[in-house]
Amino acid sequence: MPSKHQIETDPNPAGPEAAGLDTSGQSAVASAAADRRLFGRTAAELAELLVAAGEKPYRGRQLAEALYRQRCNDWASMTTLPVALRQRLADAGWTPGRPEIAESFRSVDGTERYLIQTGENTVETVWMPEGDGGAEDSAGSDAGQAGGESAEAGDGWKRATICVSSQVGCAVNCQFCLTAKLGLQRNLTAGEIAGQVVAVLERQGVVLNRKRINLVFMGMGEPFLNYENFMAAVRLLRDEVGIATQRMTVSTSGIVPAIRRFAAEEDRPRLAISLNAPNDAIRESVMPINRKWPIGELMEAVRTIPFRQREKVTFEYVLLDGVTNRREDARELAALVARHQLPCMVNLIAWNPGPGIAYSSPSAESVLAFQQQLLQAGIQTYIRRPRGRDIYAACGQLKRTTEPELVRLG
Ligand code: SF4
Repeated sequence: MPSKHQIETDPNPAGPEAAGLDTSGQSAVASAAADRRLFGRTAAELAELLVAAGEKPYRGRQLAEALYRQRCNDWASMTTLPVALRQRLADAGWTPGRPEIAESFRSVDGTERYLIQTGENTVETVWMPEGDGGAEDSAGSDAGQAGGESAEAGDGWKRATICVSSQVGCAVNCQFCLTAKLGLQRNLTAGEIAGQVVAVLERQGVVLNRKRINLVFMGMGEPFLNYENFMAAVRLLRDEVGIATQRMTVSTSGIVPAIRRFAAEEDRPRLAISLNAPNDAIRESVMPINRKWPIGELMEAVRTIPFRQREKVTFEYVLLDGVTNRREDARELAALVARHQLPCMVNLIAWNPGPGIAYSSPSAESVLAFQQQLLQAGIQTYIRRPRGRDIYAACGQLKRTTEPELVRLG
């Protein structure tokens, strides 16, 4: 028998009425299919939910603290909330609902790749202690994270990067990318995107104010084709988890209308453009999306970004042997970058091999030579160290591979 304040809702987190919160005990229409995961809701939304159920507003903040800062993912560990309240929430079908790590693989280089369960799907998230040497490693170095970033003695790393997925699969069809082979299965919710980060922080035992954590939204999917959920996840990670946006970088294949929208955001992560070619002809062959938004339009959209002091856009450039890594490609890329006069840097990524893709990896010498050409042209250029190639964790390799020879962590 429902009490006056029994919590009965539908999945809409917009507010108690919109959410169908029942404070009268009359409505029992909450469907079994309703999404009753708490993770993914802001502190304000959690407070609304609890107030509608007769609780004090501060309980919403307590619940948010438990979910996002203490990283509780079961009722028993949420000891800051009264047992009776937890019981009522559980009885009404609510769950903490953070995505869980289903499988883990560890590379010889220390990188860990996770398959994270999001409903019926799994997505990939990658943990890279000490980053990968790319431009994102310096993200936010002028911004700081709450509490500073001094290294914690004795546990072997000072900073780390988490690579986060935004969709299950991807529709963009970049020819060098394993994720593309999955096609798009669905968008992730804000909670599923932010939940990957919290699950990994929990797995690694990270104390945020003692470590420097960078987030790169460069996992499975095109974040700008899931724009609302992606930005909602960014706000959750900023406001509830406590990671500054200056420490986040989002990479897009060049979804021009979304870049323009992104430019108008009051607070946003840094931007990386997955460029990968020095001209439209080559780019179309490796990234069919270029037919819709060619390089000129893409650069014009990037120009609308109001860059912060010392902020730069990163051009990601995958080196495909004989396709994008020739001397003339470097020359043309340098000219392209110079022509558009954007505050920028270039990240070079030697292509990571994947089954069923017919490109070749460039030699280490040719990667260095390419970098030299750009440096000589005055372009700040980094080489991303391939991380976790042996466990299919490197760029463009995320396809939920679970071959038995991979080293499982359990
Ligand atoms: S590189 Fe990124 S945008 Fe392109 S297919 Fe792969 S996941 Fe999608």
